[in-house]
Amino acid sequence: MPPSPAQYLLRFDDLCPTVSASRWRQCVALIREFRLEPILAVVPDNGDPELCVSPPDPGFWDHLRALQAAGAVIALHGYRHLCLSRGHSLLSLHPQSEFAGVPLAVQQDWVRHGLAILRVHGLNPRLWVAPRHGFDDATLEALRAEGILLLSDGLALRPFLRNGLIWIPQQLWAPVERPSSLWTICLHPNTISDAELAALRAFLNRNAERFTSVDRALAAFPPTPLTLAERFQTRLSLWRIRASKARKVRREQEPSGP
Ligand SMILES: [Zn+2]
Repeated sequence: MPPSPAQYLLRFDDLCPTVSASRWRQCVALIREFRLEPILAVVPDNGDPELCVSPPDPGFWDHLRALQAAGAVIALHGYRHLCLSRGHSLLSLHPQSEFAGVPLAVQQDWVRHGLAILRVHGLNPRLWVAPRHGFDDATLEALRAEGILLLSDGLALRPFLRNGLIWIPQQLWAPVERPSSLWTICLHPNTISDAELAALRAFLNRNAERFTSVDRALAAFPPTPLTLAERFQTRLSLWRIRASKARKVRREQEPSGP
């Protein structure tokens, strides 16, 4: 049985010097107020215009170093965040990705350069977070070769071992109360709304003591390969997410009423 009560990890995606300054400031205020130790997924050399929301912040890297010193764990979030490949991902939640389907040598180059950029800025990237959940066996090989043995993704209910890496699952895109297990909540500061920030604050007020860190989560849930039943559960969760996305697309395509 998974340990109870539930534990939560927070993950902030798409961080780069042009992240929405006002929204990110509000997220950081919550990190500091509740002494959280989140995963910060950083794009090393952003080329994605969708992530250019505010003018480049000259203090961005200093600021990330301070958050890292306060317990945040830095993740390599792709290389340029340009999702131009249609290769098959191990998770297949989106049709396009930056890494899945790209030749191994190119992926190795991107991982190596991405890590080097983050390290030049004084950061210690420990995890991989794939843009749009897109990665394949070659990505995992490139990560292993560079000594990155942790990733944040997958729909299991605990950290697990697969293909020589430790996967820390990420199953939620908003705070939701759960009875047990480990839940990573992924948030996007560029698009988070006032209502979503208020919901996060309310959730933190109720559950602050249940928020954990990457290291404490790995100690509480020692990673082992998933059992057959757990693999079935992850397939079912993936199917449910895909079905719910398909329903949403259908609703958006329906003509509006008279
Ligand atoms: Zn992203």
